[in-house]
Amino acid sequence: MAERMLKFVGTPQAMPDKRPAAERRRDFEEIFANFARERAAEQAARCSQCGVPFCQIHCPLHNNIPDWLKLTAEGRLEEAYELAAATNNFPEICGRICPQDRLCEGNCVIEKGFEAVTIGSVEKYITDTAWQQGWVRPIEPRRERRESIGIVGAGPAGLAAAEQLRRKGYQVTIYDRYDRVGGLLIYGIPNFKLEKDVVQRRERLLRESKVKVVLDCEVGRDVSLAELRGRHEAVLLATGVYKARDIAAPGVGLPGIAPALDYLTASNRHGLGERVPDFDSGALDARGKNVVVLGGGDTAMDCVRTAVRQGARSVKCLYRRDRANMPGSQREVKHAEEEGVEFVWLTAPQGFLGKRSVSHVRSVRIHLGMPDSSGRQAPQEIANSHLNVEADLVLKALGFDPEDLPAMMEAPELAVTGWGTLKIDWKSMMTSLDGVFAAGDIVRGASLVVWAVRDGRDAAERIHGWLTAKAAPKAAEPVAIAAE
Ligand SMILES: Cc1cc2nc3c(=O)[nH]c(=O)nc-3n(C[C@H](O)[C@H](O)[C@H](O)COP(=O)(O)OP(=O)(O)OC[C@H]3O[C@@H](n4cnc5c(N)ncnc54)[C@H](O)[C@@H]3O)c2cc1C
Ligand code: SF4
Repeated sequence: MAERMLKFVGTPQAMPDKRPAAERRRDFEEIFANFARERAAEQAARCSQCGVPFCQIHCPLHNNIPDWLKLTAEGRLEEAYELAAATNNFPEICGRICPQDRLCEGNCVIEKGFEAVTIGSVEKYITDTAWQQGWVRPIEPRRERRESIGIVGAGPAGLAAAEQLRRKGYQVTIYDRYDRVGGLLIYGIPNFKLEKDVVQRRERLLRESKVKVVLDCEVGRDVSLAELRGRHEAVLLATGVYKARDIAAPGVGLPGIAPALDYLTASNRHGLGERVPDFDSGALDARGKNVVVLGGGDTAMDCVRTAVRQGARSVKCLYRRDRANMPGSQREVKHAEEEGVEFVWLTAPQGFLGKRSVSHVRSVRIHLGMPDSSGRQAPQEIANSHLNVEADLVLKALGFDPEDLPAMMEAPELAVTGWGTLKIDWKSMMTSLDGVFAAGDIVRGASLVVWAVRDGRDAAERIHGWLTAKAAPKAAEPVAIAAE
């Protein structure tokens, strides 16, 4: 082992420089700078090179983290990049937006006592360097295959699958109902977490790799699933989950109350230089408003931080559980607090007040009771604890469910689970329709980018296996020997 490693005792954990909150509040740029070369090497050298690397086990892609940290510490960056890219199609994206505190870094052995190696930041550094140096090149398959694959959805699951299939030489076409490639990477996740050009350079690379992209094309409206099945040897559904959960409470229809994704999409489109009527009219612009966001997940965190940047008068996040029990990343909560967001924990909305538009969220305080069968403490309302929270814009970030895909795609035989996600055979990743596979959020329910990438890669492998088996000559039928 190189002497350079195991420096965690003498070298404290250091993240790349974070811009001051007062500056961040004024723009939509990413909040962390990149590591300088020496800093990245120094931080990578903190790795203890464990025999059983828990970081790798808990990374959904099982990235070979200790090895690329070692190569980074030794200054062998191109090799580090090759290794990182071997298991992850978008290391610079995961390095930016994975909730590392719950995945790789949360399971780093030196976390207890010395604080984790900053794995995500090193992964981002390695890959951003690879882009700068021209080491990230379009795919040139060793041989072209005749079979074509249709992929529905240009989010991370569809894109990862497209890349993997193209590497094997398949002819790949991606269909998406949006007008841009990226799915939630482009229209959900704000710029301050993931700058758009990071996604767009991936799109360019795919196109240069001769992956065809058909945008503004909704399967079920502009083309049917049956047509796609006729056009391609296999189809992959990677359509994500988009039905926003709602709240059944008096006043919920008042103007000034909007679904979180509508708000974030408007902000992202505006940032991309588009004219967005709902933003220009002020309906989905937080400027000068008292904003209340309902929910405690990643989407809620993105809404509160976007509202701050749009110049809201005040921004509050209402969540019915406490900080320890929220689904969003603790790091994001910390960033949001630094930027001036107020968290109103243990508080649930009961209704919305207002004459022409919303003016207050009528809320009640919550007490967390005994854990239920799932182990989570059940929220219970505290009697006579009502409060009215002032609001001109309320954003509902209450989660997402799948759309009714069998109906949308006129494919009643497409089997779904009780949650409406697509039912697949996990071994083959095939749906109930022959030759139709599925991956990403539409299978798992709302999840993470890193899981979408993992599923996309797995689906590509299964599609390849299925097509190869189909093409193989059938074993000769056993010959019946006639009795004498
Ligand atoms: C606001 C927000 C913030 C998030 N932040 C994070 C984060 O910080 N870190 C993280 O890891 N995860 C985050 N996530 C979750 C992450 O974005 C998703 O888990 C991931 O994008 C799922 O990938 P996917 O490819 O399955 O689906 P998507 O990214 O949703 O892509 C699906 C694509 O399918 C297209 N599509 C749908 N139906 C059709 C159709 N019928 N025809 C044609 N095209 C269709 C859609 O237009 C879309 O482009 C966030 C999610 C949201 C909403
Ligand atoms: S992909 Fe995500 S979980 Fe895996 S090493 Fe990178 S940041 Fe960690």
